[in-house]
Amino acid sequence: MNNDFEKQIHDECGVFGIYGVEHAASMTYYGLHALQHRGQEGCGIVSVDEEGKFHRIKGKGLVTEVFKGDELQAMEGSMAIGHVLYTAAKGNRIENVQPLFFHHQSGDFAIANNGALVNAEELRAYLERRGSLFQSSSDSEILAHLVKKDGLVERPRIHAIIDALNMMEGAFTFLIMTANRIYACRDKHGLHPLALGRLGEGYVVASETCAFDTIGAEYIRDIEPGEVVSIDHHGVRSNLYSQFKHYNMCSMEYIYLARPDSDIEGCNVHAYRKESGKLLFQEAPSEADIVVGVPDSSLSAAMGYAEASGLPYEMGLIKNKYIGRTFIQPTQALREKGVRMKLSAVRTIVKGKRVVLVDDSIVRGTTSRRIVTMLKEAGATEVHVRIASPPMTEPCFYGVDTTSYDELISARMDVEGVRQAIGADSLAFLSEEALYKAGNRQELCTACFTGRYPTALYHNSVNVKCKCKK
Ligand code: SF4
Repeated sequence: MNNDFEKQIHDECGVFGIYGVEHAASMTYYGLHALQHRGQEGCGIVSVDEEGKFHRIKGKGLVTEVFKGDELQAMEGSMAIGHVLYTAAKGNRIENVQPLFFHHQSGDFAIANNGALVNAEELRAYLERRGSLFQSSSDSEILAHLVKKDGLVERPRIHAIIDALNMMEGAFTFLIMTANRIYACRDKHGLHPLALGRLGEGYVVASETCAFDTIGAEYIRDIEPGEVVSIDHHGVRSNLYSQFKHYNMCSMEYIYLARPDSDIEGCNVHAYRKESGKLLFQEAPSEADIVVGVPDSSLSAAMGYAEASGLPYEMGLIKNKYIGRTFIQPTQALREKGVRMKLSAVRTIVKGKRVVLVDDSIVRGTTSRRIVTMLKEAGATEVHVRIASPPMTEPCFYGVDTTSYDELISARMDVEGVRQAIGADSLAFLSEEALYKAGNRQELCTACFTGRYPTALYHNSVNVKCKCKK
C-alpha cells in the first residue's frame, strides 16, 4: 500500500494457473483473491475455451474492483492463468498488468510472472537489435520474444522455452498458457515460491499454497528450482532447464511477504515466524511486562517471543482493516492522522507497562518511530523493540521492492543509531544464522541483509549498488 505509514516492502506479484477444471476463470478469481496481499496495483485473467479461443480481462486495482459483474461467467473454458501485480519500480501502466497475451502464427499464448530478471536490460537490447518492439516493461514480454525469436523454425515448443529460460538470470516464476497446455517455470536459484496442487481431475499452480485452500485444491509439491512443468491432457510432465539448482528461497517471503497459512518448501509461514520469535528471545531477552506484535505480519513472531519468554502476549496495537489502500495525504499533519486511523495503541493494555514491541523488519525507520511514539503516548513506560530479521542494508534485485537503497536506515546507521532514531529504550535484531534455523534450512536468499546475492549481478544492478553505497 502506498501511504507513508505502510512498511516499504512489497512483493512484485502473485501467479495462479488452473488446468482441467470447469469454470477455470472463476476458480482463478478465487485464487487471485487469496494472493491479493502480493499485489494490489492490477490483476488479470486469461482463459482458453474448448475451441482454443483466448479470453482476457485485466485492469488496474484489486481483484474485486477489476472483476465486478458477471464477466467471469462469460469466460468459458477449463484452463486459465491469472496474475496480481505490484510494481513500484516499473510503473503500474496498464500494459504491465498481466497476464500478457500474444498472437503468433504458431499459436496464441499468454504469460504471467512473479519475480525480476537481473539481466532484463541486456536481453531487451539483444532482442531490440534483432527487431523486437516492446510494449511493456514486463519481464513476461522478454520471455515471449525469446521464445519466438527464431520465428517459425520447426521444433517442440518446450525446447524454445528451455533455451529462453537459459538466457535469463534472476528470479522468475513464469506461467505460460498455450491453447492446450500450461507451462510452470521456476528459476534455478529457487528465489520465489511456486507450488503445484490437484483439484479433482485437474491441476493448479500458485505462488502460495493459501490459494489452494481457498478453492479446495490439494497440495502436491513445489515446482523445483530450474524445473519446467507441463500440464496438459497427458497429466504433469517435468523437464529441467538447468542442472544448476539451489534452494535460495527469499527469506522475506517467510519473514513478511507470504500469508501465514501458506507452506513454502515444506515449512508453514506462521510456524517459521513463531520460531523466529522464540530465537529472537534467546538472542535478545528483555526485562518487560508484556509482548506486543505489530499487526499483521509480526503477530506470529510476537507469539513466539512471548511463549519463549513467559511474558503475556497482549493485543497492544489494533489495526483498522477498513482503510483505503491508497491513503496518500499531502501534508505531514494529515499523514500523522492517517497513521492513527490505520493503527491504534490500546491504552488500557499498555498504560504503565514495559512493552516488548516485536516487528518483522525495519526499512526506513519512520514506521517504527511512529509506533514507539504511539505506545509511549498511550502510557507505556518503556518500549523495547525486537526485530525478527537482521538489519536491512542492501537493495533487492529479485522483484521485492525494498525501497531505494539510500532510504534503508540500517544502511546508514548502526543499531544504536537506529535505536535513537526510532526512540526505543532498547533495540535488537535477529541474527542471520537464526533465519536458517527458524525454518531448518540449509539455503536461503539473505542478500538484503548480507549483500551476498545468489545470482550474478549485471552492470545495471551493480550501478544501483555503487551509487547508493557511497
Ligand atoms: S534480496 Fe532480500 S527481498 Fe530480495 S529475494 Fe533476497 S531475501 Fe528476498
